[in-house]
Amino acid sequence: MYTVEHIGIAVKSLEQSDPLFSRLLDASPYKHEEVLEQGVITSFFQAGQAKIELLEATHPDSPIAKFIDRKGEGIHHIAFEVKDIRAEMQRLKEEGFQLLQEEPSIGADNKWVCFIHPRSANGVLIEICQTIPETELTVKHGLDL
Ligand code: ZN
Repeated sequence: MYTVEHIGIAVKSLEQSDPLFSRLLDASPYKHEEVLEQGVITSFFQAGQAKIELLEATHPDSPIAKFIDRKGEGIHHIAFEVKDIRAEMQRLKEEGFQLLQEEPSIGADNKWVCFIHPRSANGVLIEICQTIPETELTVKHGLDL
């Protein structure tokens, strides 16, 4: 049902890690994107059907800065693509998982995202994500105008 959409890796410096992962995957990142809400700049690589998302903190209070302070660089989260994020959030709640948010938020790469507390999943931060349908994007842009 779920497919792995991407693996998030916390890094201290995209300037250093972009070339490293470019050599590793033999491909350049296909985009960089800042997510203000999470205090990160992300760098995306395609790796087969999944992606690698490198995450660099933009300020010391960013969850990524705190993660690196505690654990050092490394795998930060695993993201699974779902078809209906609200339905999955409801299902996971009923299954006893502790969600970190009540409503989906807007993540990088045109996605709705929701995180599940690592306490609920053997110490692994899990993200579920859903590609924002184009119709909703149109509505949003409409409101912005
Ligand atoms: Zn992610």
